Amino acid sequence: MEQELTRAVPYVVRTSGIDGHGLFATAAIRAGERLTEYIGEKISKSESIERCKAGNNYVFHLNDEFDLDGDVEGNIARFINHSCAPNAEAEVSGGERIWIVALRDINPGEEITFNYGYDLDDYRDHPCRCGTDRCVGYILAEEYWVHVPQTG
Ligand SMILES: [Zn+2]
Repeated sequence: MEQELTRAVPYVVRTSGIDGHGLFATAAIRAGERLTEYIGEKISKSESIERCKAGNNYVFHLNDEFDLDGDVEGNIARFINHSCAPNAEAEVSGGERIWIVALRDINPGEEITFNYGYDLDDYRDHPCRCGTDRCVGYILAEEYWVHVPQTG
């Protein structure tokens, strides 16, 4: 018997104050714990560009050759919202698989978030509503925050 499959996952999909649906912890999660795999369809870079142009926001960088389109049924990680002060991150393992990993201990009831890591292209089209003290107002990888005009 596969024991891992019988263990209940420590989160649930609920309506979120940030946007649409979100993933919420239902049990204590420890820093470093792998929460779920970000699963999807492996696609070429040219296919990826087409899908992103068409407004698909679930495409992830996988390696130099391929990206992963997470807009598939069964990818529970696609419900995770972006935050400027996330408690989890997306980790590419061996250029082949993507895991959502807790950055710190997460308490039951907390919404699970990660930084989507968007670049500066059309960043104004992706406002952030994470509501944290660190919010820069847009969904952006932290390395680009210095390029965003300060509003506060
Ligand atoms: Zn934010």
